[in-house]
Amino acid sequence: MMHSYLRLTLEQPIRSGGIKIGGGYLDTQDCLPGSVLRGAFAEWMKSHGRASEIRRAVAGLRIGSFFPTTDPQAYSLPLPATAVKCKLHPGFKGTDATLQSHGIRDSLLAAVAYSELVRLGGRFPVPFLLRCSEQKSPGEKCYQRMERAKGYYIRAGSAYREIKPGEILQTKVSLSRYRRAAQEAQLYRVVSIPPKIGDGQEQLYFVGRVWASDSQRVDDLCRALNEVGVGGLTTRGFGRVRCEPVQITLKPLAQRVLDFNSKLAQIWQELADLAQQCGSILPAQPPGTYFSLDLLSPAVLTDPEDIPTLVATLEYQGAPVQPIWWAVQGVFLGGFSTAWGLPKPTALAVAAASTYVFRMDLPATSIVPWLEELERRGIGRRTDEGLGEILICHPFHEEVKPV
Ligand SMILES: [Zn+2]
Repeated sequence: MMHSYLRLTLEQPIRSGGIKIGGGYLDTQDCLPGSVLRGAFAEWMKSHGRASEIRRAVAGLRIGSFFPTTDPQAYSLPLPATAVKCKLHPGFKGTDATLQSHGIRDSLLAAVAYSELVRLGGRFPVPFLLRCSEQKSPGEKCYQRMERAKGYYIRAGSAYREIKPGEILQTKVSLSRYRRAAQEAQLYRVVSIPPKIGDGQEQLYFVGRVWASDSQRVDDLCRALNEVGVGGLTTRGFGRVRCEPVQITLKPLAQRVLDFNSKLAQIWQELADLAQQCGSILPAQPPGTYFSLDLLSPAVLTDPEDIPTLVATLEYQGAPVQPIWWAVQGVFLGGFSTAWGLPKPTALAVAAASTYVFRMDLPATSIVPWLEELERRGIGRRTDEGLGEILICHPFHEEVKPV
């Protein structure tokens, strides 16, 4: 299966979320899960009298999450769970004058080098601590606590920008299905994402990856989204989009793995030097090839006994590969099938942006084809619904210094 990118230009507010049953609250989320797009595709097939082909058509198609962007040529990514920002001066550098942002950086490589060096017997004068290292005033460090930075970002050259879709809240009345009496009326709220953001001038797009066994399926998906729209309530003024293919340049996987390892080696060296001052004898270089596996959509993972787990175990040539480090969050996955109009069963999943680090005693070049295959397939259950979408060595992990 080959992958390509599709871009959706929003023409109406869009609803992407599931329905919280009984809550009277139609929530939305700020990305479009692959399952929502697949639902639209199935709906389109049905309306064209091709219901019997749905199963076969979706089998050759895997749709990833679509992320919000303001640049029609850029694929935005969710910040990994290890991205941190200054508590007092949050945000990317130079993007907010009033906040005097101290930048966002990533803590994964430092945390991994530290924990690996400790595992190898290293002792440090101070515990691993995350503090803001930016200048508050000349000669004085900020030293504020760092907290997790969430959301989506795009990068243009060396400049980073956070993407925050807006939100429209509408209250609607639903009448009782049995007695259309006024006292039976229920209020429910609909949350949606407007097609423009900021002061209402900037167009919002969603860009995502699609894997298909042939290009005809991608063409069909595009036609389907253009005809039936995306998300819920498409007949009531929501979800109209313009879908088209887009050329995206993401750093190739092999290069991401190499850059990840050379950055790790740098930090490793600095920390090893520090530990050496305390008398620890440590290897000057990381032993083996390291890589991170970052979730772009929630993943439903199970252990060999079929029990839900939050730990991702990979398989390389028949042998299990366990992560050496991870930063993960559990989440309950609900959802609503637009294809069938029914709620989906709830499952325990690992949240998007969670990240795992693995180490292997093989050179990077020999594991790259395997990693490419992993990215193509995704991990865990229900990958055909867009769950378990991954990115190997998320480029933001290289941002060790605030950007
Ligand atoms: Zn600071």
